Amino acid sequence: TDSTDTADGGVLRMGTNATFPPYEFTDENGEVAGIDAEIAAAVAEKLGMELDITDMAFESLIPALQAGTIDIVLAGMTVDPERADQVNFTDSYATGVQVVIVPENSDIAPVEQEDGSLAVDLTGKTIGVQTGTTGDLYCTDDYGQENVKQFDNGPLAVAALVNGQIDCVVIDQEPAKNYVAANEGLKILDTAYANEDYAAAISKDNTELLEQVNAAMQELKDDGTLQSIIDKYITA
Ligand code: GLN
Repeated sequence: TDSTDTADGGVLRMGTNATFPPYEFTDENGEVAGIDAEIAAAVAEKLGMELDITDMAFESLIPALQAGTIDIVLAGMTVDPERADQVNFTDSYATGVQVVIVPENSDIAPVEQEDGSLAVDLTGKTIGVQTGTTGDLYCTDDYGQENVKQFDNGPLAVAALVNGQIDCVVIDQEPAKNYVAANEGLKILDTAYANEDYAAAISKDNTELLEQVNAAMQELKDDGTLQSIIDKYITA
């Protein structure tokens, strides 16, 4: 295949938000590293393309795809029907879980439901989220915008939690583990707020790239590369 047709002269321009370890973070050399960067590098190699990563706000990623300033998003992005109206998602390459971070001494706790399952009720609490994420969308739907405080990224939300400005943070599980490890006095509640699929996003105008990336990802799944990248960063 002639990859130069697809992504601006053989360069695969990826957008991400590098405040989301272990999927993406800035390493000691100032480079974007992590699961998504490694998967994208493996996909680019299969397509004979050079990978170029741009770090931006999470909520800018879909607009950047639509504007054509990037070709692909890998950002621990959850497949979501509203987003799927705006962009195409590749096949899923990972799963995610929305969790609740609270101070160790918080009165927020999972409560047993009639069916025996555990659920957490955040009514009356001030909930911190990263703007435009599924955590933001779910909490705004469930508890109303007035109870949700938006932050540009996860670490800023967690800092507000540490400072007592908010009561909890709803965010993806693996970044949550990193944030809790980096701060004293926080814990993750045992109940999952939601289970999700992560996929790469591509402009609706670029179905050729979508097919190429899906084919490359399938090869990386089949030969074990994808799982080995994930296992490097996430211990079960
Ligand atoms: N998985 C969440 C979402 O897609 C958060 C992603 C992120 O913050 N990078 O909204």
